[in-house]
Amino acid sequence: MTARILDGSKMAAEIRAEVAAAVKEMAASGVRPGLAVVLVGHNPASEVYVRGKVRSSEEVGIYSEKHTPPESATTQDLLDLVADLNRREEIDGILVQLPLPSHVDAKKVLLTVDPAKDVDGFHPMNVGYLSTQRPGLVPCTPAGVMEILKRSGVPVTGQEAVVVGRSDIVGKPVAMLLLNGNATVTVCHSKTRDLAEVCRRADILVAAIGRAGMITGDYVKSGATVIDVGMNQVTTRPEFDRLFAGNKKREEAFQAKGSTLAGDVHPEVASVAGAITPVPGGVGPLTIAMLMANTVKAAKMRRAASNFDLRASSNQVGVGP
Ligand code: NDP
Repeated sequence: MTARILDGSKMAAEIRAEVAAAVKEMAASGVRPGLAVVLVGHNPASEVYVRGKVRSSEEVGIYSEKHTPPESATTQDLLDLVADLNRREEIDGILVQLPLPSHVDAKKVLLTVDPAKDVDGFHPMNVGYLSTQRPGLVPCTPAGVMEILKRSGVPVTGQEAVVVGRSDIVGKPVAMLLLNGNATVTVCHSKTRDLAEVCRRADILVAAIGRAGMITGDYVKSGATVIDVGMNQVTTRPEFDRLFAGNKKREEAFQAKGSTLAGDVHPEVASVAGAITPVPGGVGPLTIAMLMANTVKAAKMRRAASNFDLRASSNQVGVGP
């Protein structure tokens, strides 16, 4: 069997087009959703992510602005900045790019973000809304996982879902969304016994671990849907060979760059699974698309008293009913 490849790039493009249409519709009422991104210091990876978020905002017509306090910014500086963004009417979404410098109290800063503008969905208020199935903002990567399942026609109700990873930003919210979608959910982590055996129960297996190619063929039931959230840089030859030996395209890229991006799922799983997300080009592109969707959703929810269609403001992902 060769698994169906679930094309995240294509789905992300569809979502961006839907967001752009929603933005256009709002423009007719004189409203333009606005996103503020806060990037502290000079973390090269964060700079790349933030550039992508700002560019994507421009593409779909969302107003965006970037705030770049220096590495030396204090917790109080950031609290003041967030408070100012909370107050500003034209800002619908606030995203504080993580990680923050170690001297900053990141939890305190994130807690200060107005839950109605918390487009990352990390605020405890939104976490509570998610777990009690109330309207709120859902973290982008988990929301992207659900969009992939939905847009690929993979049923969730009644299915056995296994999530490997229990982080606050990926594993737990993915598990909650699957549960809300009526799957029977098992959450695994580094202390789980017989991990492969538990994973083999899954009709839907989500890997959010951060270990390149850890999920091998023997973790996967024949025909299962496998969603690979992992993004790992492979930089050593033995690791490369374990994952990609004989893959010409990867070999060329690895030789040229000295590294290649790998998921948590071993490529051999493609011969066992029924459907699988690639890395790159799977969950990754959905994350930014869902940030755009969340910004529109936040703009609509904050203007709930006006004429906007609130059907899009349920705790479902996506931008429209
Ligand atoms: P964390 O490091 O916060 O969490 C990893 C989880 O995996 C933990 O719950 C940990 O268990 C579990 N784990 C680690 N080792 C094992 C093991 N040997 N067996 C079973 N479970 C294990 O990572 P994140 O959740 O932030 O990210 C996970 C992956 O997803 C990373 O590769 C990250 O780069 C990627 N990612 C991708 C995004 C995208 O847009 N595609 C967005 C965000 C993340 P325990 O709790 O016991 O320590």
